[in-house]
Amino acid sequence: MKILLAALLLWPLCAVAGAPDGNTLRAHVSFSVTDGAVTSVHVEESWTVSPGTPPTWSIPTRLPGLPHLADSLHAMAATDDAGDVPLNHTDVDNAPAPLRRWTPVRAVDGTLTVRYTVTPQPASEAGGPPIGLIGAGGGIAGETAGMLALPESTATFDVQLTADVSALAKGSVATSSKGEFPVTGKMTIDDLQSIWVLFGPARRLDAPPYAGFALGAPPADAGDLLAFGQRAYTALASSFGYLGMPRYRLFLRAVEGESPATGTSESGGALVTLGSTFRADQKGDYIHDVLFHEMAHNWVGHLSPNERWFSEGLATYVANVIRCEHGLDAWAACAAQLTEKTGWALDSRARNWPMDKMKGAAFSDAAVQRTPYGRGMLYFAALDATIRERSAGKKTLLSALAPVFAGREQGKPITRAVWEAWLTDAAGPSAVGTFHRVVINGEDAGVPRTAFPDCLAPVRVRVRPPGATAFADSYTWVVPAGCRPTVAH
Ligand SMILES: [Zn+2]
Repeated sequence: MKILLAALLLWPLCAVAGAPDGNTLRAHVSFSVTDGAVTSVHVEESWTVSPGTPPTWSIPTRLPGLPHLADSLHAMAATDDAGDVPLNHTDVDNAPAPLRRWTPVRAVDGTLTVRYTVTPQPASEAGGPPIGLIGAGGGIAGETAGMLALPESTATFDVQLTADVSALAKGSVATSSKGEFPVTGKMTIDDLQSIWVLFGPARRLDAPPYAGFALGAPPADAGDLLAFGQRAYTALASSFGYLGMPRYRLFLRAVEGESPATGTSESGGALVTLGSTFRADQKGDYIHDVLFHEMAHNWVGHLSPNERWFSEGLATYVANVIRCEHGLDAWAACAAQLTEKTGWALDSRARNWPMDKMKGAAFSDAAVQRTPYGRGMLYFAALDATIRERSAGKKTLLSALAPVFAGREQGKPITRAVWEAWLTDAAGPSAVGTFHRVVINGEDAGVPRTAFPDCLAPVRVRVRPPGATAFADSYTWVVPAGCRPTVAH
């Protein structure tokens, strides 16, 4: 089961003032290794507490794909300038993610130092978003959200993240989505929870501003996958344009077993979990789709507040059209992926659900969760065709969106109102009505359109979505005979 997610897994922190602005927060990680595999990650953190303010720190009890997060932290202990600090801990029901919170039972003075050990998440749980620390190829990778218990503070800290990889194989790296260790900078706790980290004997490809790292032995050659990431970076940067050539870091971890090929993306980087073998329904271009999709999130970003038809729909569209337009894969590969994602929208029991109804579905309900990917993809394909027609080929979906993306970079979020004003301008006065009917309310859109009719053509098929009593139209995609292999760029 594959679920691709943009990481917007932010949870509101209880605003307990535990550190004034300018405070330093140090975190150091080291490792225990048994038979070549990381068995424990040791964390030591320290920060200065404000006089008279009881400090607390916490970690989510669980996160999507990471059901036992708080229980994976052991041997929590704290000291301050006066010696050992006895602790209480309690589980707090905090939406959307409950927390485990540690509280000193006496007043704390000066610098508080907290030590604990994190047990890596088992590879058998690797099918979810790659937030937890999972071992691969003698190293380990994950997100800071899946390993760090942090002060409950809204302050900005001077962060210093350090690592000792001497217990890992010779030549091991310590690297992150914010660059090589040590990682330093001014960060809020939210920032500090959103960093990909990778430690171990990684294959790496340095091609600034792109860098790729791979742990373990994926079912396709790791060097080829990192090189694919570099080409995807170039295709995305040139197609979107508005970011220039931003720094970007791609992390792959290949765990033992069949490849889940799930990824999560944050600004500036992505971590993708692969296996050591393919599943029966996976081929190399499937991994290419996942990599391109996750990398696309860096440019697609999201609406404010996030709406998945946009973030996931546009990333899915880009991954299965731009990828082949730039010659990274054959059009037949993109047609096959378009067919699969069309099924996510049209052969789904949520085919005609309004978006609001999908929000109530369980995270584990993949068939519903992925419907916005397919619906959004089909919508953006049609919108791209409309924009090209209206501009007599002078504009594309991405070039028309560029000013909106640039505005977001300059601090003007893409709200629904901004989106709809742009849509009217780009696609005509009826475009907002179509958008509401098709995307928001889930009405059938008819024959899908694509901006690449020479290379991608829909062929009608009949499906009966799960739970439906009648058959309905869906589409497979084929590559017409007149398609040139690629478009030169
Ligand atoms: Zn995604």
